[in-house]
Amino acid sequence: MISKLEKLLPELKKNVLLKDYSTFRIGGPADFFYEAKTEKDFVTAIKLCRRLKIPFFILGKGSNILFDDKGFRGLVVKNAVSEVKILKRFKKTFKKQISGDAYYLPAHSKKYLQFNDLDYQQEPFDTEVEVSAGTPVQYLIQQALGKGLTGLQWFAGIPGSIGGAVVYNIHGGKKLFGDYIKDITVIDKNNKIRKIKHKDLGFAYDFSNIQKENYIVLKATILLSSGDIGKANYVYREWLKRKLKVQPQINCAGSVFQNFPLALAKKVGAPTPSAGWFIDQCNLKGKTIGGVQISKKHANFIINLGNGTSTDVKKLIKIIKEKVKKKFGLKLKEEILILPSKI
Ligand SMILES: Cc1cc2nc3c(=O)[nH]c(=O)nc-3n(C[C@H](O)[C@H](O)[C@H](O)COP(=O)(O)OP(=O)(O)OC[C@H]3O[C@@H](n4cnc5c(N)ncnc54)[C@H](O)[C@@H]3O)c2cc1C
Repeated sequence: MISKLEKLLPELKKNVLLKDYSTFRIGGPADFFYEAKTEKDFVTAIKLCRRLKIPFFILGKGSNILFDDKGFRGLVVKNAVSEVKILKRFKKTFKKQISGDAYYLPAHSKKYLQFNDLDYQQEPFDTEVEVSAGTPVQYLIQQALGKGLTGLQWFAGIPGSIGGAVVYNIHGGKKLFGDYIKDITVIDKNNKIRKIKHKDLGFAYDFSNIQKENYIVLKATILLSSGDIGKANYVYREWLKRKLKVQPQINCAGSVFQNFPLALAKKVGAPTPSAGWFIDQCNLKGKTIGGVQISKKHANFIINLGNGTSTDVKKLIKIIKEKVKKKFGLKLKEEILILPSKI
């Protein structure tokens, strides 16, 4: 089985430390690791794992994952297929698509991240862009803005790939990434390559049907607008500046917990559904276990101080959940993916 893998995937590596592929900088060795640089190689690796019944995990930029200290038993397939193609510019424009419940997204009080003044009515979509799943979101934004295409400026500073962005329907300000997706091309459970339209993707807060159907994303068609490029560039820069001020950027995996539904937050008299606010109310900023700490900058971020382990993070997550449950009677849900199992 191993010799077959090595023969068909010549650049296969063994015992690769996953901490080197995660923004948390945590994770033991993967038995096997393969970085696919073309769509063909990516599909070959997936089909091979399925045929040989080898457990596998699809990795994008590793910015929403807590890998285990023991690593991963099987093959980690990193999608490094990065390509952006402008397909068509249309005379006619598309109607705005709405994907999911933006009410989970916090209307922050002055103390927190402000974005309402940056929000504006997006011009109608007039351009289709095809982008491979391994493309970094920030690279796509730069390519698009450079060609006068606006829409993605709200996602400034998010360090994931397009694959991760559609799987989780990432959010920036009040915008959801799914709003910009026309369709995606996936490999399904039966190894069939199919196109799935926006309407069938069930985008919601932190969710798309890709999770439910176990689709593996190969590429996406994104809808953008030849809008006011000066304004879009301003929003991009300003958004990034504000984010950097209030959120840690390195040695973390972004927000650890999802925000609460607005109605639930209102019910307990909270001024915002932001999970960070609830954790802050429990005076947990700066709490340290082993080598990890609840960020002093933003309570919904756990940072690795240098020698943190997945066990440390799990212990801290447990404490946060218990304290918030005790104080507010509400159950926090993880936004990050914890491998191999939930706490
Ligand atoms: C500093 C920082 C700031 C952040 N800010 C935000 C933010 O503002 N908003 C926000 O929503 N998120 C934010 N995040 C979280 C994270 O960047 C996003 O969730 C991102 O979309 C994850 O993409 P990724 O490529 O890193 O996915 P990974 O972490 O590599 O993978 C995440 C999941 O997606 C799956 N996956 C990845 N690629 C594919 C594919 N091609 N096909 C099928 N499944 C795939 C993986 O198997 C895994 O289950 C932030 C993270 C950090 C570290």
